[in-house]
Amino acid sequence: MSTDRVIFSRPYRASGELTNLEAVLASDHSHGDGQFTAAASAKLRSITEAPYALLTTSCTHALEMAGLLLELGPEDEVIVPSFAFTSTATSMALRGATVVFADIDSATGNLDPEAVAAVVTARTKAVVVIHYGGVAADMEGLQKLADTYGFAIIEDNAHGLGGRWRGRALGSIGTVGALSFHDTKNVHCGEGGALLLTDEILMARAEIIREKGTDRARFLRGAVDKYSWQDIGSSYLPSELNAAVLDAQLAEFETIQANRHRVWDAYAAALPEWAARNDVRLMSVPQDREHTAHLYYLRVPTEDRRDDLIKHLGSLGISAPFHYVPLDSSPAGLKLGRTPVPCVRSAEFSGTVVRLPLWPGLSAEQIERVLDGVTSFTV
Ligand SMILES: *Cc1c(COP(=O)(O)O)cnc(C)c1O
Repeated sequence: MSTDRVIFSRPYRASGELTNLEAVLASDHSHGDGQFTAAASAKLRSITEAPYALLTTSCTHALEMAGLLLELGPEDEVIVPSFAFTSTATSMALRGATVVFADIDSATGNLDPEAVAAVVTARTKAVVVIHYGGVAADMEGLQKLADTYGFAIIEDNAHGLGGRWRGRALGSIGTVGALSFHDTKNVHCGEGGALLLTDEILMARAEIIREKGTDRARFLRGAVDKYSWQDIGSSYLPSELNAAVLDAQLAEFETIQANRHRVWDAYAAALPEWAARNDVRLMSVPQDREHTAHLYYLRVPTEDRRDDLIKHLGSLGISAPFHYVPLDSSPAGLKLGRTPVPCVRSAEFSGTVVRLPLWPGLSAEQIERVLDGVTSFTV
């Protein structure tokens, strides 16, 4: 039996990466918005059903662009789940908006519409939702509130490329969607992201914001004969080198996903009996959602025993980390945010969650080792 470490996540290698990279380097065009950006964006539009997709340098930058597009300012409030990644909140705080933390639904780890209803005010301009682990949030509940209060929904869809809620592709349900291609995500190019839009007017402005405030995108399409400074903006477009790797990965998206689901399904099939005996809650997917196998997590009854399980797995050479530290109690969250209602479920989720190794190349033998490691632990 192998005693190599079973690492938590290993970035996928797609077969076309080197050929694509060589083509970029040989072309004398490695700055952004070349053929691979166009090809990768087309693949993203097809997967997400978003009419518009713009590659960005990261998901964080796509979220910052969302903040600029929605014209967030110091008068505005943005509701963010407390159990979230820092970028989800800091991209909004960067515009001077007040981040208002709301609690999650313990069943999915996602923002709870009832918790949103409890903290929404006339100043709420946007709500950012994460589809945690690639399982969709309750979009119906959030959409009802959005219709009543008139706020925008931003989908931080870093985990959910290819996921669905009631048949609809994640990332194109809200006003704005953001994707991540960081090398810990299902599809990657080292660092990268994308902004997804359904509105033509927002898209026209997003192209300008992304390209240093210029209308270079229109110029490249031949719609104007020179480009000039049009609006505020920054440099949010990735180089063709990143797009070349991303396009090669997206060409194998189905293989990546099939292999991630193979691992996820093996865990989900093997663990229920052990979980029931030990009062452990397994990750679950509501009937009306198709998940992306981004994560497979367990929830152990107490934080102490969760930490003991992590140590136990570590002693067997298996990396199984915990996840987000609640943002509402973090130093910047306390300074830049408000928490009108304590986020108790978020704190509880954070203290009890543990993630198992999950990546496409995980072998049957490694999956067995993880399962033996987990089931040899008694909570
Ligand atoms: C990874 C991640 C991000 C940040 O992605 P980057 O591409 O690294 O900026 C944002 N939100 C969530 C939920 C993430 O998991």
